[in-house]
Amino acid sequence: MSLINSKVSAMFFDQVVTVTDHNVTWEKIQNCLYNLYGKATYNSWLSSLRFVSSSNEEVLLSVPTRFIKEWITVHYMEKILSLWQSEDKNIRSVDIRVTGEEKDLSSNAIAKSKEESNNHSLGSPLDPRFTFDNFVVGKPNELAFTAAKRVAESIIDPISGSNPLFLYGGVGLGKTHLMHAIAWYIVNSLPAKIKVVYLSAEKFMYQYITALRSKDIMLFKEQFRSVDVLMVDDVQFISGKDSTQEEFFHTFNALIDQNKQLVISADRSPSDLDGVEERIKSRLGWGLVADINETTFELRLGILQIKVEQMNIYVPDDVLEFLAKNIKSNIRELEGALNKVVHTSLIGRSITVESASETLADLLRSNHKPITIAEIQKKIAEFFNIKVADMHSNRRLRALVRPRQVAMYFAKKFTQKSFPDIGRSFGGRDHATVIHAVNQIENFIRTDSNFADEINQLKKMFK
Ligand code: ADP
Ligand code: MG
Repeated sequence: MSLINSKVSAMFFDQVVTVTDHNVTWEKIQNCLYNLYGKATYNSWLSSLRFVSSSNEEVLLSVPTRFIKEWITVHYMEKILSLWQSEDKNIRSVDIRVTGEEKDLSSNAIAKSKEESNNHSLGSPLDPRFTFDNFVVGKPNELAFTAAKRVAESIIDPISGSNPLFLYGGVGLGKTHLMHAIAWYIVNSLPAKIKVVYLSAEKFMYQYITALRSKDIMLFKEQFRSVDVLMVDDVQFISGKDSTQEEFFHTFNALIDQNKQLVISADRSPSDLDGVEERIKSRLGWGLVADINETTFELRLGILQIKVEQMNIYVPDDVLEFLAKNIKSNIRELEGALNKVVHTSLIGRSITVESASETLADLLRSNHKPITIAEIQKKIAEFFNIKVADMHSNRRLRALVRPRQVAMYFAKKFTQKSFPDIGRSFGGRDHATVIHAVNQIENFIRTDSNFADEINQLKKMFK
């Protein structure tokens, strides 16, 4: 390992320590303030306080007016600071900014440094939590992680990376996290020398269109072509946008020609990017294409364990296992679920599997296995107060026919079953009966708003 690399890991070690999630800490402190001063005081003075940012030692909060700032500073600041320090002993000061001032400050900063503001507006800000150290590696993301790390290292140390690196996978599985991690790695290793730009494909498109409109296209080209590492996130968004695609392709080629690094992400593989020209698809797949797969139980559990450690909050193992077992959709949702569960403890309740499943009832339902026709029949029968058996029976009473038709309609909407399948599940009826039922219900929805309301109400029961 080179000297630079060992310095880098030392820096990262520092960062891991500071990564205690200050957003979560702030939520905790708000709850303390509420309990300390009571609802009336809290609502009048403290509820407008917002967490803006934090570094190792400083916390920045904001309020909407100067007056509130002064009031808080005089009456509550000491307490706020000591609460922060009891959560994070590194904190030395808490500052409050008036929201109006924030704008002034940043526009000053831009005026002060044209060069900086250019760089800034070219890319998007990086999330400080998205580093390699905070990325939990498991089977589903191992390839993507290794490739990303290698690309980052290859910028610092001339080893061979992959160019372009194309990361793809479903939503919330860590693509953006890895791209930011590459950027942090480089920025923290060789700050000034290397120009790293991260942005979404949408922002690229926006910049391009803005440049066209203000006839600044030369500047646009120049800026993007002078970048050392360009990372464009979610390129599926440029599908069908022909002139943006064209420009993206030129930028891409110009940078590759100069041996500059490109990192691209999308929600699907290059060849599956519909609405993107063939030659672009094929170029995108020239380097390394690494996919991130759906999460496994082990990865989800690993991620939860690391997050609670960082939050410095105790969550029983069985609760973590419960979450990892039930929230399978993606990591973003998993984190959201954990935050909700942790919140329970902030309001003074203990975290148990029961409290977690209560807190997450909605989320758990949507992560649940697909709904079956039998469940639909049962719910609809309950709603209309008829017997489930009447879903299957031949009785033609209107009071039975309508609920049966509604159930068939939902069976078509909410399951993958075909018309004949659905017919069979309703006492062996034929497909024409089901089609007729679905058409009829759709007609009623269109023409009778009371009926439409009822259907909506029913729909919610299945969500
Ligand atoms: P994507 O860009 O693929 O939609 P993100 O990179 O935004 O997903 O990830 C969603 C959230 O999940 C982020 O908060 C990210 O930090 C977190 N995350 C994703 N993968 C991991 C991982 N392997 N380890 C830790 N956190 C992860
Ligand atoms: Mg993303």
